Parts: sequence; C-alpha cells; structure tokens
Amino acid sequence: AKCSAILHTVFSLSKAPRLPKAGETIHGHKFFIGFGGKGANQCIQAARLGVKTAMVCKVWNKQILSFSVAEFVKQSSDAVTGAASITVDDAGENAIVIVAGANMLLGAEELQEALPAISHTKVLVCQLEISPQTSLQAMCMARDNKVKTIFNPAPAIPDLDPDFYRVSDVFCCNESEAELLTGSSVASVEEAHRAGQELLKRGCGSVIVTLGPQGCVVLKGGESTLKHVPAPEVTAVDTTGAGDSFIGALAFYMANHPHMPLEEMARRANLVAGVSVREIGTQTSFPYRRDLPNEYF
Ligand code: ADP
Repeated sequence: AKCSAILHTVFSLSKAPRLPKAGETIHGHKFFIGFGGKGANQCIQAARLGVKTAMVCKVWNKQILSFSVAEFVKQSSDAVTGAASITVDDAGENAIVIVAGANMLLGAEELQEALPAISHTKVLVCQLEISPQTSLQAMCMARDNKVKTIFNPAPAIPDLDPDFYRVSDVFCCNESEAELLTGSSVASVEEAHRAGQELLKRGCGSVIVTLGPQGCVVLKGGESTLKHVPAPEVTAVDTTGAGDSFIGALAFYMANHPHMPLEEMARRANLVAGVSVREIGTQTSFPYRRDLPNEYF
C-alpha cells in the first residue's frame, strides 16, 4: 500500500470551550482538517495490513486527488466532495453538520464501470455513505460474482431495504446501529446477542455487533450459542473510527484467510482496532502491518 490517506469526504474539527449558539461567533482553541469517510477509512486500514484495495466513490471534480490512490473515483461538477463540520466542546459534547455532496450522485451506470474490479475482488465492503440503492446494487454485483460481502449499515437508517440482509455474508454494525435496526436496546453483551439473532433472522450469513471496549459478539447462521469476543484492555485516547479500523481489518482477514473461523477474524480485528484507539485521529491512528506482532498475520 503506497497510500497514506484517501478520502471521499473531508472533515474539519474545531475544539471550543462550548458549542456556539445560533448567530454567535466564539473563539476555539484547536482546529484540524482530516479525511474520511467510513469507506475510505476501512479501505486504508485493510491496505495498511497488506492487501491490495480499490475504492469506488465520487468527489467534486476540482478536488485535489493527490491524496488518493483509489481507483474508480468519479468526479462531479454538480456537487462538492462530501464534507463534515464538527465542533467539540470541553465536555466532549459535539455538533456535526454533514453534507453528503457528490457521494450521493454515484449512480448505477458509473458503478457498472467498476464491475471488472468488483467481480475480481475477494471481498466487497459497503456502507450507507452513498445512496442505499447504489450500495445495494454493488452488493448484488458482488454476490453474482461469488465475491464475499461485508455490509456496514452506517450511518444507520431506520427503514433499511430488507434485501441488504439477504446479500450480506457478514453484517457488521455497532450498538447504536443495532438498536436502530431492531428497535430494542443494545447496551450489554446479552442484548447485543439478542439483536444479532434478530438481524440474522432477516437473512444474513453472519452478524457481528461491535461493543466498543467490550469487543464484539459474533453470530453465524444455524448456530445459537453466545459468542462474545472480548477486546484487549487498552487505554483509549480517541475511539473515533474504531469501527472502521475493525471492519478494514475484518475485510483483510476475509480476503487473506478465507478459511479462518469468523470468531478468530473478529478476535484479530479487535486487536487491530484496539491499537487504533490508543492515538488521536481516525486514519492517522490506524496501525500498519509493521506496528503489529507477526502472529496477527
Ligand atoms: P464504532 O466506532 O462504530 O462506534 P465501536 O465503538 O463498537 O465502533 O468499536 C469498534 C471496535 O473497536 C470494538 O469492537 C473494539 O474492537 C475496538 N474498540 C473500541 N473502543 C475500544 C476501547 N475503549 N478499548 C478497546 N477496544 C476498543
């Protein structure tokens, strides 16, 4: 992997003593710009572990792409690159505005141009940062070509098309996404297991619900035993993007070790994501292969 960062959205983060009120201007004390979103982050993590990756996305046609090694980056003059403006106050409370921009303009015809790449890959990962219809179409393309699929229903939407479950080999979400999709509280390992069973019933091959410091639960079709995979104990500095690090690592293991039990992949993905929370930032905190012990590979 030659890349150090890729993007389909940019974000700015300002830190201020409190959030500004409507019409107000206040002084902050920290500002930085970073690259995302979820798809780019997951792609970066998989690439850093040592697998060839490609990303299908759409950005504004004047966006400087020198940061990007992603293939199939489409350009639009009708909308800007997706952007998020984040303000965090001293209590850790935040206010975020997301402008999806060009991401939502990636359509069926453009996706078709990426078919040669999608059909020859080992694993396809989709999220909901492009239009759900386009994501679903990509998942179906993968399925038709016997490519393994990971679906990450994020940012979560309440009325997810039921076909997403049927085309997911692994359906991987966090607690709040599981909560929104099942309508029940997901605040413990037991509740995550119950939510996972409900998601599994909807037709996915396997379900993983990530639980922050508690690791994740793994459920496979046809099995009803509780499989909790705990995370290593680490001193967390910034957990932003931990879920993306986990999914990027999972994609890496599914591509490189297709016969490894899913629980073992989840255990290793916990270890990788656990490293990512020890530093500030999202892509900047994701570990490289050289940062991890040999037994992770
Ligand atoms: P998201 O970033 O989507 O909210 P989670 O918070 O569930 O996702 O985190 C994803 C994964 O990152 C977890 O399954 C775990 O492996 C790891 N992780 C997150 N927070 C911590 C933490 N405080 N300590 C150790 N591992 C963590």
